[in-house]
Amino acid sequence: MPISDRMVILGSGGARIVVARQLRASGGIWFSLAGTRFIVDPGPGALVRMTGSRHRLDPVKLSGILLSHRHLDHSGDVNNMIEAMTMGGTEPRGALFAPSDALAGEDPVVLKYVRPFLERVVTLEESGSYRLGNVVFTCPVRHQHRGEVYGFRFQIDRSQKLEARVEKAEVGTGPDAVAEDDSERSSVVGHRSSLTVSYIADTRYFPELAEHYRADVVIMNVVRPIPSNLDHLCAPDAEELVKAMQPRLTVLTHFGMKMLQVKPWVVAREMSERTGCKVVAASDGMLVDLEPLKATIPSSQFLIPNQGAA
Ligand SMILES: [Zn+2]
Repeated sequence: MPISDRMVILGSGGARIVVARQLRASGGIWFSLAGTRFIVDPGPGALVRMTGSRHRLDPVKLSGILLSHRHLDHSGDVNNMIEAMTMGGTEPRGALFAPSDALAGEDPVVLKYVRPFLERVVTLEESGSYRLGNVVFTCPVRHQHRGEVYGFRFQIDRSQKLEARVEKAEVGTGPDAVAEDDSERSSVVGHRSSLTVSYIADTRYFPELAEHYRADVVIMNVVRPIPSNLDHLCAPDAEELVKAMQPRLTVLTHFGMKMLQVKPWVVAREMSERTGCKVVAASDGMLVDLEPLKATIPSSQFLIPNQGAA
């Protein structure tokens, strides 16, 4: 049975008060794309939310951990997650991707004693392109936020399969070999099931975000309902981006106190109505099945909220 592409919101809360009081959980997002599993921004409680999830999320099955930046609501559980992913470091495995100030400098958040547990520790850079299993991703642009911050744009990578087939075909010189090459190339290139997923981590709004993160599915950290002088997206910023990007699905998450007060699901519903694009508010434990986004199925069919969500 192939594993479907999906993501699970381990925590939809953000910023200090919501996280400190755990008004919403703060565990980041679990992804499973093309059979590669990874977690993005394991904030406080990520490990507990993962092992307690009804979606059966096993930390040992992770291939990687990605940090957008070092703030605690994004990185609080990173050391626990490294230990869990590597079975307490019994055998080096998995990869960690993080900006330089999460790994080096005066106050790195990743402990040095857990780093040898990992197969790879990769320092993220602006415009960098990276591979994790069957997924390739980029950090399109440095965000406007305290410290070094990147979002991610994920794409399922089919090039390995294509390259392997092309190589095999090129070994032979007969017409059969060429035919196999061509048919594989067209079936891969013509395959419309490929999926792009963007995660816009903490940032002040700037219009170039839309071009950098254009994707089928866009996840945005929207801390506030109205503009403020904080270096975070607010709901009107998110709406600008939805209008410019026209994603097939937008997921708002990382809610601060003021956002919770105005009910994120109402904000999302009104944004959907005004933009004509499907926008949903994350809830703790929510599973988003990404498979139907590859086909023409109404988007209302791919949300399965956790019954026990806060
Ligand atoms: Zn932050």
